[in-house]
Amino acid sequence: MKHIPDVFMLGGTVWKVIFDDALLNVDEMGSCCTRDNSIYIRPGLPVAVQEHTFYHELVHAICYTIGYKKLNADEDRVDAIGGMIYQFMQTVQYPRKKRAK
Ligand SMILES: [Zn+2]
Repeated sequence: MKHIPDVFMLGGTVWKVIFDDALLNVDEMGSCCTRDNSIYIRPGLPVAVQEHTFYHELVHAICYTIGYKKLNADEDRVDAIGGMIYQFMQTVQYPRKKRAK
């Protein structure tokens, strides 16, 4: 299952996820664009790489939204936090709803 949304909101702003590499540098797997509130993901990558890239870029979007400029510039920490969110999303289990009788 691909854990990448089409659209989400942060701080009241709608963000889009776009699979397009036209705006990416050759060495980038993704990018967080604050001009158009979009996360760009390079198409054609393995799904797990696209998912990890999405959560990395999501952390950039969160840092931008809440004004954490220093953290936003720290790629190692952004990647570590994104990796933890990705693991959470892969493993989270919610209680099953009981069926009405
Ligand atoms: Zn980054």
